[in-house]
Amino acid sequence: MNSWQFETTVTETRADARGTWIALESTLFYAEGGGQPPDAGTLSGEPVLDVQRVDEIVWHLIERTLEPGTLVTGIVDEAVRRDHSIQHTAQHVLTALLEDEYGIQTLSFGIGPADSSLEIDTDTFDWDQIESLERDVQRIIFENRPVHVREFPAEEVEQDRLRKATDRTGTVRIVAIDGLDYNACGGTHVDSTGQLGIVHVTSMKKVRGNVRLTYVAGLRALAAVHSSRTALRTIHQTLSTTNETVAARVIEERNLRLERDKEVKVLEARVAKAKVAAFLQEDNYVITHIGKTEAETLTTTIVERIAATGRIAVGANHSGQKLWLMHDGTHDIAIGKFLKRTLDDLGIGRGGGSHKQAQARFESVLELERATAEIVKRLQEGMVSC
Ligand SMILES: [Zn+2]
Repeated sequence: MNSWQFETTVTETRADARGTWIALESTLFYAEGGGQPPDAGTLSGEPVLDVQRVDEIVWHLIERTLEPGTLVTGIVDEAVRRDHSIQHTAQHVLTALLEDEYGIQTLSFGIGPADSSLEIDTDTFDWDQIESLERDVQRIIFENRPVHVREFPAEEVEQDRLRKATDRTGTVRIVAIDGLDYNACGGTHVDSTGQLGIVHVTSMKKVRGNVRLTYVAGLRALAAVHSSRTALRTIHQTLSTTNETVAARVIEERNLRLERDKEVKVLEARVAKAKVAAFLQEDNYVITHIGKTEAETLTTTIVERIAATGRIAVGANHSGQKLWLMHDGTHDIAIGKFLKRTLDDLGIGRGGGSHKQAQARFESVLELERATAEIVKRLQEGMVSC
């Protein structure tokens, strides 16, 4: 038996929709609280899904039920606990430095499954300040300052040293980091700041007039670096860039694309005009345009132009497996309803629309072709009474 394993007895059980909540004579499981998620682990081999404290009783959620009086073995997942302790202790260091070095109070804190967040009482904080804060945190990590956790009778607590006043009576648990922090806290912590490894801020956002920082520490920070590097390597390989050139290159690529989009629009308009002019040679009431390889924007432009001449336009685009139906509003055909009913009859595609325009999407080009043929047939035969 190691320090993460314990034996105890079930004292009480309560069932709800999520499973059975088990109360134990004693437990090593940390119940969710103070921004820290509950411990993970097992009770007699059953995964512990949640741990909550209600009126000083710690309840462990498992799927199966256990009878009161049953002897159980509890095992706390050491890796999950260590990870939570690292993220939580990192918060102590961040909060202390933000207050002491930048005069900014922490308003709230939470450990998430991917990263942790800290809402701080300021509306101005920038990335230079974040880098400076990270360097300050790293100094505290390198100094490997001990983290002391001790319980004191409330009257022995040095009230004026407390980072945040507590109204707790009886026994107060004090978490102190040498020369940095003195705090009443019920969470779990590492033994010294060196165990945090590295603390890395991942995002900064304005919320409710404050700033919310998200951060990762320890192995989560390593995973974040790996993930960023993988993303960057893909960009570097695709665009032949380096860390130094990538930002400028991405901006250049985006501007180039915006320029090309504009050019494509002009060209599409020219192509559409030419194609529509050809269609108008035919004296048809329904005109069908099939775009096999063209962009969807070109198909819709052509459909709009045909409809503007007073005909009923049917446009199919093979690459997007989409179909458009349109008229200029002078026809007595509710296009959306007509399209929907035709698709329902065929049992393929999804779509609908308004009185004068509608669109549908299909699973395959084959379905698109079938629907197009049926729609054109019905329109030409006048099977469109709505
Ligand atoms: Zn704490």
